[in-house]
Amino acid sequence: MPLSLKRPQKLSLLRRIPMPLMSVIIGLFCGLLVWGVLDQVQPRALRSIFAEELQSRLDQQARETLIRFDNYVLAHTSTARLLANHRQLADYLEPVYWYRADGDLPEQYRESPRWLPESSLWQSLIRPSHILLLDNDGRPREVYQLGERQLPAELGGASELLLGERKARATLTILAGQLYLLVSEPAEDATGTEMGFLMLVVPIDEQFLMASQQGISSNGVLVGILEADEQRFLASSDQSRLHRQQRLNEVEADFLVTSQSFSDYEDTTLNLQFATLVPRSVVQAMRDRVAGLEMRQRLVTAFTFVTIFTLVFYLLSERLNKILQRISRFSRRALGAKQPVIERGNQLFVLEDWIHQFIQLVRDTREEMRQQHESEMHESEMLKQAIMETALDSIITIDRRGVIIEFNPTAEQTFGYDRQEALGQVFAELIFNNESRPQFTLLMADVLSSRDWAPDEMRHELTAVKRGGAVFPVELAIKPIRLKSRLAFTIYMHDISNRRRTELEIRSLAKFASESPSPILRVNRRGVILYANGASDELLDYWGCERAQTLPLYWRNRVTEILGNGEDWQTQVNSSSRIYSLLFTPVVDLGYVNIYGRDITAERQAEHQAREHQQELIHVSRLSTMGEMATGLAHELNQPLSAIANFANGSVRRLQASGQGPEDILYALGQITAQADRAGEIIKRLRALVRKQTPVRRVADLNEVVREVCSFVEFEARKAGIVIEQEFYVHNLLVRIDVVQIEQVLLNLIRNALEALREMPEDGRSLVIQTDCQDGEWAVARVLDTGPGIRDEEMARLFEPFFTTKQGGMGMGLIISRTIIEDHGGTVNAEQRTGGGSCFSIRLPSNRNSDEQ
Ligand code: ADP
Repeated sequence: MPLSLKRPQKLSLLRRIPMPLMSVIIGLFCGLLVWGVLDQVQPRALRSIFAEELQSRLDQQARETLIRFDNYVLAHTSTARLLANHRQLADYLEPVYWYRADGDLPEQYRESPRWLPESSLWQSLIRPSHILLLDNDGRPREVYQLGERQLPAELGGASELLLGERKARATLTILAGQLYLLVSEPAEDATGTEMGFLMLVVPIDEQFLMASQQGISSNGVLVGILEADEQRFLASSDQSRLHRQQRLNEVEADFLVTSQSFSDYEDTTLNLQFATLVPRSVVQAMRDRVAGLEMRQRLVTAFTFVTIFTLVFYLLSERLNKILQRISRFSRRALGAKQPVIERGNQLFVLEDWIHQFIQLVRDTREEMRQQHESEMHESEMLKQAIMETALDSIITIDRRGVIIEFNPTAEQTFGYDRQEALGQVFAELIFNNESRPQFTLLMADVLSSRDWAPDEMRHELTAVKRGGAVFPVELAIKPIRLKSRLAFTIYMHDISNRRRTELEIRSLAKFASESPSPILRVNRRGVILYANGASDELLDYWGCERAQTLPLYWRNRVTEILGNGEDWQTQVNSSSRIYSLLFTPVVDLGYVNIYGRDITAERQAEHQAREHQQELIHVSRLSTMGEMATGLAHELNQPLSAIANFANGSVRRLQASGQGPEDILYALGQITAQADRAGEIIKRLRALVRKQTPVRRVADLNEVVREVCSFVEFEARKAGIVIEQEFYVHNLLVRIDVVQIEQVLLNLIRNALEALREMPEDGRSLVIQTDCQDGEWAVARVLDTGPGIRDEEMARLFEPFFTTKQGGMGMGLIISRTIIEDHGGTVNAEQRTGGGSCFSIRLPSNRNSDEQ
């Protein structure tokens, strides 16, 4: 029965969405989720990274700007050293001598002084506003002014500012409100006398700071120097954006400021700091750019994620969908479910539904099977009970100790004990006599020792005892029943008294063949004689073989033929002394042929004698016919004899008169000879008819035979005023016959017709003899007369022996005729002609073998 699954509930919208589409939706959803999460986490992380990075970049930048500033200052220091140690200065100073008390104003130069070499030293440097030559006390002796800027008043005379140990140094200081870099380098004259110092006075202003950064701060980064205590700027690299005197907190709104102390300018009494200012707008633009970049990256990530996820999920789900679809279809087909597979929709849900249904179905089926099992158990119990009760065998169940625990009604009847009586008794003691008991014990031991018994091995014949002591043979089979907790045995017992009797009968029946007086043989397909009873010895002699030997070739071939066509075959054999009729009967299934012989010697002898008697009868009949025909024949003979006499007398007379010529006499003698021949012929024919001779068959033309017979009765017919009309078949009608006998038949029929016609008035007498060919197989001769015909009651008796309606008739003519014709394999028939009269016909098989003519 095909499983019938409930049609899945109507699929919800979600379930109707095919898996690939769902995968796209899920992919998008996941992408958005990723986007959302990243949006929450990434910018924050990025901001903190950015802030850290910014800070480190600012620090870096601040360090770099300071280093550049230091390097720039260093470049001035180096330049100062170069100038101070230049030969031109040494040479210039050699004759110079500055007096300590000398209070003159220093010498002022507007043009490049002699002690200063003409060189391109200032190419990359901001030119100082002044270059001073100081004496050892720090008083300016010579001042070279390079620009318009006036020498600050503080540098006009010897001051603490310009004094110090004799060493090179760079100092930052504020002079007349302007920040200056003072770079001093000891100077010697050509003799090595320490003359004083060369000092570069460089105003630290916009150009200086700009030049110190070598234009690197193009991205809007400013550098400045501020007074740390007041937090006020003293100089900046871009005055337009950061004025002098501007306070730090004022600029912090627009700039990120990194300020650091100078370490190399300790001589300075001022508390100065170098500040690097990065415009906040630049930072913001950078931040925006990074945020934009991050956003784009996030977008690309989310998009890539969505695409890859969707694609992968789509491909997987597509594949999965197909597999699930196939699984659904296959499992439905395998379970024979009738419902069509839902091809559309999400196969995962379809399969889930289907699995739910299937589980339900399995549960239902299990329940059904449980119920069925229970009912089957019940039925089987009932059936067992019924079998036990109705079984023709005694069925007895015993436990391991041999105690009876079940005893069926047949056992009750067979052994004469009630069930209740039998239960609890020891089986062997109750059922067997002393002789059979040990056999049964042995049997039980055998059953216990072997597990698998062939059914035949389990059957044993023992002798059982009924209540009252009657002993009878039983056939017994023991079947061990291995129950979970115990072992039991079912014993089937069958009373075989009847069978024994039947066996005896069969055995005695089997002797029949051997006791038979007729030969009975069995040969196999190859012609080997498997069995031949005692009466077959003569036959075996005839065949020239013994039992278990092979039949001669001709007979072997017959056996093969019979087995081939499966039909009986009968034949006859003439042994030296006996004649047997043999019936070969094939047993096709087994490939045997049974041969049943019958000694028909006596029968054949009887037949032979009967035939002899018949021949005798036929002969006698012929003689009688001849007797009857004698008068007519005498008359027939009389004619030629009279003619002979007349011709003889005439010849004598003619010779006596001697006047006649020899021609006349010769004619007369000729007639005499002819008439004598005719008479001789008649006699010969009659002799042939009358002569007792053994029947000889030869091929003859029936037309000729009829013609001959007609000539016999010609006289008789003529006497009765009847002309025999002969209508012959145009061709020869060849038949293989005993001519004398067939002539006898025809003679009989024609004579009967003539006799019948005699009863009629002369003008109504007509006799026709026809010959004919029927179906090309039969030659027919008919004798038709217009006599009184045959009455119906006569018709039935015509061919009975001694039936005659004639006075003096014998009533043997027709029966003898029929015997002869049937002996030739033909038939005789009599019928009433429609216009009156009768028609007798004979039919003989045509001889088609023309060679035998
Ligand atoms: P029988 O001639 O000695 O009587 P048959 O056996 O020849 O014996 O004939 C038996 C009978 O058949 C005859 O007595 C006659 O009644 C009848 N019978 C035979 N031939 C004819 C015939 N051509 N017409 C009428 N009756 C016939």
